Amino acid sequence: MSTTHDVINPATEETVRTIELVGVEETDEAVARAVEVGPSWRGLAPADRGRLLRRFSEVVDDHLEELAQLEVTNAGHTVGNARWEAGNVRDVLAYYSAAPERLFGRQIPVAGGLDITIKEPLGVVSVIVPWNFPMPIAGWGFAPALAAGNTVVLKPAELTPLTAMRLGELALEAGIPEGVFTVLPGKGSVVGERFVTHPDVRKVCFTGSTAVGQGIMRKAADQLKRVTLELGGKSANIVFDDSDLDVAAAAAPMSFLDNAGQDCCARTRILVQRSVFDAFMERFEAAMGDVRVGDPGDESTQMGPLVSAGQRETVRGFVEESGGAVDVAFRGSAPEGAGYWYPPTVVLPRATTDRVWQDEIFGPVVGVMPFDDEADAIRLANDTAYGLSGSIWTRDVGRAIRVSRAVEAGNLSVNSHSSVRYSTPFGGYKASGIGRELGPDALDAFTEVKNVFISTES
Ligand code: NDP
Repeated sequence: MSTTHDVINPATEETVRTIELVGVEETDEAVARAVEVGPSWRGLAPADRGRLLRRFSEVVDDHLEELAQLEVTNAGHTVGNARWEAGNVRDVLAYYSAAPERLFGRQIPVAGGLDITIKEPLGVVSVIVPWNFPMPIAGWGFAPALAAGNTVVLKPAELTPLTAMRLGELALEAGIPEGVFTVLPGKGSVVGERFVTHPDVRKVCFTGSTAVGQGIMRKAADQLKRVTLELGGKSANIVFDDSDLDVAAAAAPMSFLDNAGQDCCARTRILVQRSVFDAFMERFEAAMGDVRVGDPGDESTQMGPLVSAGQRETVRGFVEESGGAVDVAFRGSAPEGAGYWYPPTVVLPRATTDRVWQDEIFGPVVGVMPFDDEADAIRLANDTAYGLSGSIWTRDVGRAIRVSRAVEAGNLSVNSHSSVRYSTPFGGYKASGIGRELGPDALDAFTEVKNVFISTES
């Protein structure tokens, strides 16, 4: 079996770098080292642990442009997005650098003594990162985990390991002690599997496909290992007839084309109230025509290539091999020649059971369907196995609240398509996952609660 992997630039199909892949032996060594340094890391004065994370954040900031340019070739991300992503790692680290001094327990009134709760780290935690957002998703795992006093082993996706590997180097440069945070580039079936089966790894924090997430949960059950699973999505973008149609239609393209649609929060099912369906589609088509697809290194580009030839084939299969079950309403353009390009594509499913309407495509493809009234919109929005995010466009505050309450999803936005803020919880309902990342909730996900009763009567 090969122990090297060629990292390919998705926009040019050229090899960026050949890396050594880590195997089970090196994974076990890294876990052993993480166990060894665990007591000194969790034993640091909270302010000192916070200072080191703050320093890590500053070092990331010093290397922001380098990280962004690396992500352009590592994952094919547009340079604008890549800058935001590196900045997100910086911000997440800065946010959680304040946490060590704020891991508050509680004092609970009881008879006969004093009862207190203490939040303690889990020990060694593992983070398994997908290829769609190599930097932010790594940071959402390692920053709160380290802040809570855990040591971390992290596996980037095989396709896109370079920026996570660089973050591992920058952690050392910032003074995070060796062994506290180790990046292990390797295969999911080798390193990822070992994280799940290793008896000293106390938690698996996984982002990726629902099928792999389910497998991890099954195997983790053998050791009652903790899991956080952030899986796929098929989110609804609900446009009511009382919305500002110009704004809703202008926002619709990038709500599913960001990162070429390889985004678990992509709003890939647009539901439009029947009375404004034609008016919306006219505006939407015009907005789609303005999307700039091309060289991800160009400052003006909004959408780059897909991550791999395999992912492009998957996307193509949904649109072109679905046996006539979809009508293509309109398409944008994509460059010819080298690179894993696929044009932005708008389809009109014929039934809610169509694959394009139900399955996560993870490419620049969106379906549009009309609805009649509020109840119909909610029924259609919830008619999916997933429940990650979604948008509601309306000027009626009561409706915004009613529909937000009724839609089964972890992250909703009203008159907006933003999903992620480092200070607010992020995660899914139903097949979109278990647990929450970011915000205060992530600290709970990386700690155990210990209850201590101290008798006053002996
Ligand atoms: P996977 O779920 O296979 O990969 C995600 C991560 O899990 C990668 O680091 C991968 O490593 C690792 N992994 C794979 N198999 C195992 C295993 N048995 N045990 C532990 N870790 C493992 O996603 P794909 O890359 O195959 O993408 C397929 C589809 O999944 C996409 O089309 C999309 O629909 C969905 N997806 C959703 C994401 C999300 O953000 N929710 C992110 C990525 C994908 P390696 O790269 O080495 O295989």
